[in-house]
Amino acid sequence: MAIPVDDAEEIEPALESARAAVRDGARLVEWRVDALVDRLLPDRAAEALACVQRLVGESPAPCIVTIRSASENGAFRGDDTDRVSLLEAIGAGEPAPRYLDFELAAFDRSANLRQKVRLAVAHDRQPRDLKTSLILSSHDFGSRPADLQKRLAAMVVEPACAVAKVAWRARSLRDNLEAFELLLERGKPMVALCMGEFGLMSRVLAPKFGGLFTFARGTDTRETAAGQPTVRELRDQWQFDRIGPATAVYGVIGWPVSHSRSPALQNAGFDALGVDAVYLPMPVEESWESFKATLGAMIDFAPLTLRGVSVTLPHKEHLVRFVRERGGTLCSLSERCGSANTLLISKDERACALHAVNTDAPAAIAAIAHALPGGSREPHALLADKHVALVGAGGVARALAFALTDAGAEVTIFNRTRERATALASSIGARAQVGRASVPPPRGSRFDVIINATSLGMRGAETEGRSPLPDDFEFVNDCVVMETIYTPRLTPLLRRARDGGATVIDGSEMFVRQAEAQFRVWTERDPPSGLFRTTLDALEPSS
Ligand code: NAP
Repeated sequence: MAIPVDDAEEIEPALESARAAVRDGARLVEWRVDALVDRLLPDRAAEALACVQRLVGESPAPCIVTIRSASENGAFRGDDTDRVSLLEAIGAGEPAPRYLDFELAAFDRSANLRQKVRLAVAHDRQPRDLKTSLILSSHDFGSRPADLQKRLAAMVVEPACAVAKVAWRARSLRDNLEAFELLLERGKPMVALCMGEFGLMSRVLAPKFGGLFTFARGTDTRETAAGQPTVRELRDQWQFDRIGPATAVYGVIGWPVSHSRSPALQNAGFDALGVDAVYLPMPVEESWESFKATLGAMIDFAPLTLRGVSVTLPHKEHLVRFVRERGGTLCSLSERCGSANTLLISKDERACALHAVNTDAPAAIAAIAHALPGGSREPHALLADKHVALVGAGGVARALAFALTDAGAEVTIFNRTRERATALASSIGARAQVGRASVPPPRGSRFDVIINATSLGMRGAETEGRSPLPDDFEFVNDCVVMETIYTPRLTPLLRRARDGGATVIDGSEMFVRQAEAQFRVWTERDPPSGLFRTTLDALEPSS
């Protein structure tokens, strides 16, 4: 847990934050005192020492003291000799911190500094297990440094260095794999972390690869490096205390993906059933090349034990292409509609088998069938000969069009881009027709079921607040209206449909069902009944 302390007035609140973080599960506290020390050195060195000693003395857990220099994104701009003299005094103090952190770049700069840093951690009077140890560290805020291996080698051969720490800004998920490789090959205790939105995996999975520790922030403290989760998030959301070498890894690939609720649901399921697995957001940029390279690298890096992924916008069609190229298998719906949202990766010592499934459309069909009169009957029997207006012709609409037609429904597709609607209609055969208008369906249309499979009305989208139907659209009483959007729960379409007397199904019905189906694909077990629903409701209240 890293806590910045910028001046003496912040000491008390910082100690309070540390106590709260320790209650949340933090086992080590890093006092980032660069700004505080920068204000006081060189003239008020005794005051600086007293401040740091108070933090160390009252620290609720063993601690690291770091006076990060401005050259590595810290706030200390003063003279390195003054900084090291202070570190020496801190190391000689009583009580002393568990670790002092010093940058390799500064350490390498002069023999005199090296000598002083070595002295700062060489106090024989301390029992061995209480001795202050040195972390040599290196941080790059642009990208992975070209000489990373050389830096690590220098840390490993330095006898005074107890822990080698490297951190760099990840440019893609693949940077994490490199951090894991470094940890697996470590020559001494090591921390290897990736910063930024691509780096969460390296922070969460550090214990899987033998990383000595990871860095988090307090609920009420600012991050000291980009992408740090809070201690509570690490524990509750990312299952940090359960992660070990055998933990299987799952995730959701998309762009963007940080808003996804899938991690909360799947991790709740793993936790409840005691499955040794964790599910993470996996941001992968839009292109096919990024998708192919990233997913391929994660599957091929055997120590990651990637066992499955959910795939969302804009990669569902990429998943089908990927599985085909790698000789895997597809469920019949993905095979025909060309889009899949679930990948199962089965591996033994010799082979890796890939199987992709579409759980979106069966989930939507089940949700609609549940809402139709006689909803306990087989979904396909309920949908036979029903008139369905399907708004949209993207990935979800495509899968739905195939699944609805399979169930015997008569589908009419409406879409902003007419050519996409026409192409989809022709690929599902005679039962579909293209609506004369694009969105919205013509007035007076009578449909048993209306489905919005566009992003019209989604929170945060340009089209937030909009409905795919005109304001005066008349809903017939037994009409069922389904949303695929689940934020917000009550979209403009559903509000009007409800007020117009229709039966409404919000997008969470489909979302929960598709997530439960994914859990079954991966674990061959049912998640506890109602768990995904209550987990989602806690995050996205329905009103
Ligand atoms: P997609 O492939 O990008 O398709 C987007 C669709 O929305 C296209 O038909 C597009 O029309 C239409 N659209 C976008 N902006 C529009 C606008 N301003 N006016 C009119 N039409 C517009 O997306 P997708 O993967 O199919 O996802 C569709 C929806 O399903 C999204 O809202 C997504 O959140 C939701 N979804 C829900 C779940 C769930 O479990 N509940 C799961 C997956 C997806 P054009 O063809 O003209 O571009």
